[in-house]
Amino acid sequence: MPSDPHATPGYFEEGALVGVLTAQPLDRVLDYRAPEGGCFAGAYVEVPLGPRKVLGVVWGPGRGDWDPAKVRQVNRVLEVAPMRAEMMQFLETAGAYTLTPRPAMLRLATRAPGLGDPPSMRKVYRRGEGRPERETDARRRVIETLEEYGGLAFTLKELSDMAGVTSSVVKGLVQQGVVREEDTPRDLPFPRLDPDYSAKQLTEDQATAANRLRDAVQTGRYGTTLLRGVTGSGKTEVYLEAVAETLRKGRQALVLLPEIALTAEFLTRVEARFGAKPAEWHSGVTMTERRRIWRMVGQGGAQLVIGARSALFLPFRDLGLIVVDEEHDTSYKQEDGVLYNARDMAVLRASINDARVILASATPCLESWANAEAGKYDRIDLTTRFGDAILPEMRSLDMRIEDLPANRWISEKLQRAVWDRLGKGEQSLLFINRRGYAPVTICRACGHQVGCDRCDARMVEHRFLKRLVCHQCGETKPMPETCPSCDVEGKLAAVGPGVERLAEEAQALFPDARLAVLSSDLFGSARALKEGILKIAEGGADIIIGTQLVAKGHNFPLLTLVGVIDADLGLQGSDLRAAERTFQLMRQVAGRAGRAEKPGEALLQTYQPDHPVIRAILGNDEEAFWRAEAEGRRAAGVPPYGRMAGIILSGSDVSQVFDLGNHLARTTGPLREIGAEVYGPAPAPIARVRGRHRVRLLVKAPKGAPIQAALAKWVAPIKLKGDLRLSIDIDPQSFY
Ligand code: ADP
Ligand code: ZN
Repeated sequence: MPSDPHATPGYFEEGALVGVLTAQPLDRVLDYRAPEGGCFAGAYVEVPLGPRKVLGVVWGPGRGDWDPAKVRQVNRVLEVAPMRAEMMQFLETAGAYTLTPRPAMLRLATRAPGLGDPPSMRKVYRRGEGRPERETDARRRVIETLEEYGGLAFTLKELSDMAGVTSSVVKGLVQQGVVREEDTPRDLPFPRLDPDYSAKQLTEDQATAANRLRDAVQTGRYGTTLLRGVTGSGKTEVYLEAVAETLRKGRQALVLLPEIALTAEFLTRVEARFGAKPAEWHSGVTMTERRRIWRMVGQGGAQLVIGARSALFLPFRDLGLIVVDEEHDTSYKQEDGVLYNARDMAVLRASINDARVILASATPCLESWANAEAGKYDRIDLTTRFGDAILPEMRSLDMRIEDLPANRWISEKLQRAVWDRLGKGEQSLLFINRRGYAPVTICRACGHQVGCDRCDARMVEHRFLKRLVCHQCGETKPMPETCPSCDVEGKLAAVGPGVERLAEEAQALFPDARLAVLSSDLFGSARALKEGILKIAEGGADIIIGTQLVAKGHNFPLLTLVGVIDADLGLQGSDLRAAERTFQLMRQVAGRAGRAEKPGEALLQTYQPDHPVIRAILGNDEEAFWRAEAEGRRAAGVPPYGRMAGIILSGSDVSQVFDLGNHLARTTGPLREIGAEVYGPAPAPIARVRGRHRVRLLVKAPKGAPIQAALAKWVAPIKLKGDLRLSIDIDPQSFY
């Protein structure tokens, strides 16, 4: 904290009125009196609220519209670095963009436990003076262990484990002064990263790209670069150079990854490049570690964070670079709670922080492509794979002429290609974007399809779990013996393939091959998944059967064949991004093949080989695909050439939900004023989730229209009765 408070603007003397934002669901900042010793704007404080004490942030001067006699005093200022002005601005702006109340934004920024606790201490042990009174073996081992490691200190558990003694032996030595017990702070800074530790020799293309990124970082001003490069072209190597430059300037960097399972491989690469591991932030990180990261990021004790989208809300002291890797990935869009897109929020945060953004992808989303076309983003292309690796040859397999027996999905041509790989000791990947055993369970006696009791969704059979699972709400139930509708026994049959069923077919076709099934639900933890992936990469399987999970950036050097079971799967559906998604997914999956020296091949099974998207995937003219897709969207006035928002209404009483939808549809004045159109109300594609009925309205507005203000005005008069809920999704990604 600054030493001379009076020299710093935003200081409030004791007793002055301050506005405090809390994470409680109240729609205003509350007035309090500054505590003893005063406080700064941005200070984290504990305030009384009714009978409770809650966490808050001093947001600015108080409004003074509260009965002065009733204004209470801030209890205390917490011992953490105050929230910086740019973070406050980020939360305000992001909240205004996504129409999220400020308390909910503050909650995103304070997702670490024990922020109010003083930096806690822990006991460590090091060598003290002299020899013990009685030299037992156990005592000698403790001393030897400590002396072997010089001046290092250990926790009690570490020391007793290493010496092979009970903790009471160590405690006994402490009493004699032979071992010293000390307190050290628990939240230790992360080891320093050395930007010049060990850089790879870059190819000419890579070096040019890295130089441009380094120059961009050098400016110290905001700007976004779209780093497009085929899988394996070295995008990661290149953007790590931008990270290095950021560290050299003494600023912090954040790398966002779409999938926790990717972090392990990435951490190893960072360690090889910078000589130490960075901080790692995602849902699998322990609470103590979260607290440490949150604090260290604020104090500058963490230079680089690798994380999931929520890392964007960490209190960086001086964030200079944000990399969004696999920027097209749909998991960057948070689909419940605060509906935000981490890619867009990264750009917003960087523009407030004078930081750079790098969006890296082999298949960028159309929004980013269009921003680069329009000159808003810089664009760098890496067109060749590193080393001898070449892009896989892609072909379609016309399933109309393959005469597959019922309940078989692997065509003969694909089988032959797998046999060929098995013979050569290379790996094959069979890809299907569907978890579980079978998407539909049908009764052969009455035709009933087993659905979820709480949702309008079919239950998916998971044989591995021996249960039916609703992919919508997560509800599971045991596989029934008799049909729930007609009570006939033994007639329930699986229809269609999921990844587990495909594995069954593959095992029957290739009985001697070692199979690995990669689907997110088959691993108990992120760690298990990480280990599974590593084993496969090292050659622990001949055939990989996988869902979308495998498309995301893992390296399988022995993989030379990718067989896509159903390339048409994503083409169905009314989603405006269906073509784009299929295009990205197919190219990503195909990119898994032939990453090392051996050339790869990708075979796409399709019933529509002449579909423009399938042809674009096979042809190598990506720009043509983007241009055609952009043209179509421009003509339709949809994103990125128009704006959209989804309104989702839900409640347990279906007629109430529709009444509200109809009422909204009749009162669209504020939207018409900005030239927007409203569609609906219509049942959402999944019309019932967890017993709640869902109705959807879609708002389409011209590109520059002030859609947030209009939406806010539109829904402001609405009073939500009973359990009715209304949520607004700006820039919806999926139409559920
Ligand atoms: P991308 O991120 O574009 O998929 P990567 O950066 O992961 O590509 O590179 C693919 C593989 O090639 C990685 O194993 C990487 O270490 C290696 N590689 C890329 N460029 C170089 C280089 N200049 N020198 C050595 N290895 C490289
Ligand atoms: Zn359900």
